[in-house]
Amino acid sequence: MAGRTSSDAEQAVRAPGRLLVCATPIGNLGDVTSRVLDALRDADVIEAEDTRVTRKLLTRFSISTPLESYHAKNLERRTPEVVARVRAGASVALVSDAGTPGISDPGARLVDACLEEGLPVDVLPGPSAIVTALVASGLPTHAFYFGGFLPRKAGDRRRALEKLAALDATLVFYEAPARTAATVASLAEAFPGRRAAMARELTKLYEEVARAPVEELARALAGRELKGEVVLLVGPPDGRAAEIDEGAVAARIAELVADGVTRKDAVKQAARELGVPRNVAYGISVRD
Ligand code: SAM
Repeated sequence: MAGRTSSDAEQAVRAPGRLLVCATPIGNLGDVTSRVLDALRDADVIEAEDTRVTRKLLTRFSISTPLESYHAKNLERRTPEVVARVRAGASVALVSDAGTPGISDPGARLVDACLEEGLPVDVLPGPSAIVTALVASGLPTHAFYFGGFLPRKAGDRRRALEKLAALDATLVFYEAPARTAATVASLAEAFPGRRAAMARELTKLYEEVARAPVEELARALAGRELKGEVVLLVGPPDGRAAEIDEGAVAARIAELVADGVTRKDAVKQAARELGVPRNVAYGISVRD
C-alpha cells in the first residue's frame, strides 16, 4: 500500500514494484482465488479492462483499491504510463472482464513491456475459458490449438481453418453468440466427420456443453438464437487422414470433371461425399 501515500520524489528512489496479472472468474465469483483477492486488496492501483465490471467484483469482496482503465483502445497510451508506475515502485494489479488477462484480452503487451524493462511480473493463475471448455468437452487433451476468435468473413475463416486440417490436436475457438451458427457451419465444412463441442455459459447457471459430430452440431445450431458466452471445439483427426483412399478421391474428382463439373466444384463435392477435408482433396487433385 506504500505507493498510495508516497510523493513522486520518494517513489523515484523506491525499488521497482511489480505487475500482478490477476485471473478473475469467467462467471462464478466463487472461482476467484484467495491469492488474487489479496493482490487486489494490497495493490496500489488496479488496471481494469472495464472498471464497471471489476467494481462489481471488488464490491462483492469489499475491496476499495483505486481502479483505472486499461483496454484495447487505450493500451498504446497507457502501457508506458503503467510501466513507469511499476518502475517507480508501485504494485499494479491487472485484470480483464473475465478470465486470464492476455488471453484474447488486453495484457500481453503490458507483460512484454514490463519484462523488456526488467521489471517483475507475477502471474496469479485462475480461470480461463480455454482450459475449462477443453476439459468440459471430453475431447482429447494430449495437444490442443487455441485459435482465439476466427475471422468474421466466411472466406477468410475457411482459409484460416484449412491451415489447421492436419493438426493432431483439439482445436479451440472463442466466438460471439450471434456468429456461432455460421462459424460451426464453417467448422463442419473444414473438418467433416470430426467430433465437436460447443461450451456455453461455463460456470454459470445455464451452463451447456453440447457434444456431437460437427455436421450434427451445425444442423442443431442453424437458426438457433444463442445467448451468452461460447467456446467451440473440434477434435483432432481420428487417424482417418492416414486412411484416406487417395485413389478413390482422385477418381471421383476426375469423374465429376469429365461430367462437366469445374475442378473447384468437383473437389468440393468429392470432399463432401467421401468425408475428406477439402484442402486434402484439393492436394490430391493437383498432384502429377
Ligand atoms: N481472457 C478470457 C479467458 O481467459 O478466458 C477470455 C476473454 S475473451 C474477450 C471472451 C471470450 O471467452 C468469449 O467470447 C467466450 O468465447 C469465452 N468465454 C468467456 N467466459 C466464458 C464462459 N463463461 N463460457 C463460455 N465461454 C466463455
